[in-house]
Amino acid sequence: MTNQAQSSKESMLNNLLCCPFCGSNNLSTGYWTLDDGEVDAIECKDCYAGAPLTAWKERNDRSNK
Ligand SMILES: [Zn+2]
Repeated sequence: MTNQAQSSKESMLNNLLCCPFCGSNNLSTGYWTLDDGEVDAIECKDCYAGAPLTAWKERNDRSNK
């Protein structure tokens, strides 16, 4: 089951296009612990920007318009 989770996470990462801050696609996924629990987060390995997955997607959507 971990394999399935991993591959879905990889395809999720591929759908994130690139870093909305510096344009890099050198991204990594992780978990952030917030007040309301753990969330999927994305971090850029080039500029070290990071955001929860939902916020990251919103930024990408906006920068693509
Ligand atoms: Zn970046």
